[in-house]
Amino acid sequence: MDKVLKEITPKSSDFSQWYVDVIRKADMVDYAPMKGFMVMKPYSYRIWEFIQEAMDRRFKETGHENAYFPLLIPEHLLAKEAEHIEGFSAEVAWVTMGGREVLPERLAVRPTSETIIGAMYSQWIHSYRDLPVLINQWANVLRWEKATRPFLRTTEFLWQEGHTVHRTADEALRETLQQLEIYREVIEEYLAIPVIQGVKSAGERFAGAVDTYTLESLMGDGRALQTATSHFLGQHFSKAFDIQFLDEDGVLKYGWTTSWGSSTRMIGALIMVHGDDKGLRLPPKVAPIQVVIVPIGRGEDREKVLAHARDLAASLTAIARVKLDDRDEFTPGYKFNDWEMRGVPLRIEIGPKDMAKNQVMIARRDTGEKISVAESDLLTKVPELLNAVQDELFRQAKEFQQSHSYAIANYQEMDQYGYRGFFRGDWCGSEECATRLKTETGITIRCLPFGESPVTGHCVVCDEPSQYRALFARAY
Ligand code: AMP
Repeated sequence: MDKVLKEITPKSSDFSQWYVDVIRKADMVDYAPMKGFMVMKPYSYRIWEFIQEAMDRRFKETGHENAYFPLLIPEHLLAKEAEHIEGFSAEVAWVTMGGREVLPERLAVRPTSETIIGAMYSQWIHSYRDLPVLINQWANVLRWEKATRPFLRTTEFLWQEGHTVHRTADEALRETLQQLEIYREVIEEYLAIPVIQGVKSAGERFAGAVDTYTLESLMGDGRALQTATSHFLGQHFSKAFDIQFLDEDGVLKYGWTTSWGSSTRMIGALIMVHGDDKGLRLPPKVAPIQVVIVPIGRGEDREKVLAHARDLAASLTAIARVKLDDRDEFTPGYKFNDWEMRGVPLRIEIGPKDMAKNQVMIARRDTGEKISVAESDLLTKVPELLNAVQDELFRQAKEFQQSHSYAIANYQEMDQYGYRGFFRGDWCGSEECATRLKTETGITIRCLPFGESPVTGHCVVCDEPSQYRALFARAY
């Protein structure tokens, strides 16, 4: 096998090493000089831009506007909502000096911005006429995480955080769920990653939220990943930050707030869900290069084939993101492996024999299938194939998720599956059972899936009557 591929550890022998090999070899990241930080190189940053575009468009279509708030938050503000500071205190980095001066008050590097945004909203909101406030921020945040892994859990990460204020609880809850649905749409339709939607149990909820709604996905090693979250914050933050408005009835009331976030973690999910032993497999909608053209011609054919490949690339540029690989220092075989590793959905091969017949060979990255296509059909065939790859990746991921989902009556049953997969079982609702499960097996309650509770069975941990159907898994 080619040198390119030798350097990727097989997925089945060591999934973690495979992941690291793929992201390094595909030139997505580099490690920064500080532990837990990463550099996103252009190839992965471009994917982030596609995700941003898809999300941002939907946020705007649903009435949100972008704004930007400061990176640093004074300690007294961060401490205002008791549960929030309790939940985040172990992860906050502090700025204590400004130049050579010790600051009179420490400043937190934002781990999330509910507090500083809440403080501003209390000044902006006076009347019911000022509501709703629908603002999103694209930013970086910092959480001093103990165990880090590129994209999935980094100390600094890029994300968007939406922060809204509403007149009624109902309206705020509708907003929370509407944003969850936007996440679902982008994650399933762009990233081709199937999700399970649900609400978090109390122990897994965002610090300060009344309810956290989540999307959970299954990675290629059978571990779960929380791919995005949307929080109904009730009046916790509006009371802490005094976000009050005079309602139409002349009564001063506290606003109802929400927040929702999704991060560069989604790129990690993309790699772990679709990648294989040859490297990345990118869904066309977020692939920086959708079609790579590899000319095959030696000696006197070389220039002729190359000139033709250039024309093909130029005509395809109108309908797809195309790259012509005209590097003369590598063999076609090397190039095939190289682009397969980078997950390019379609490869067009063109040689002198194809040229003579006015056709090309197209190889699909998702299935490995090779199809011979007449040049005159390319402009219709390429978009068709890109759609087919997009659909097939989602289909494969869904099939994997379904074949790794198990109904359990007792938590010991997870042992036979090596604690890998999505386990659906009943839960009595007690945090003691959740804690016992986590301590004994490393399994957590990922969510209480929508539409599946209440139930009248028995808790998989204590066997007492259950209230909820829970989704259990080992998570990243
Ligand atoms: P949260 O504000 O904690 O609900 O986080 C919002 C989203 O950001 C989560 O659903 C995760 O997908 C993501 N996220 C949280 N922590 C990290 C981290 N350390 N690195 C990357 N993404 C993260």
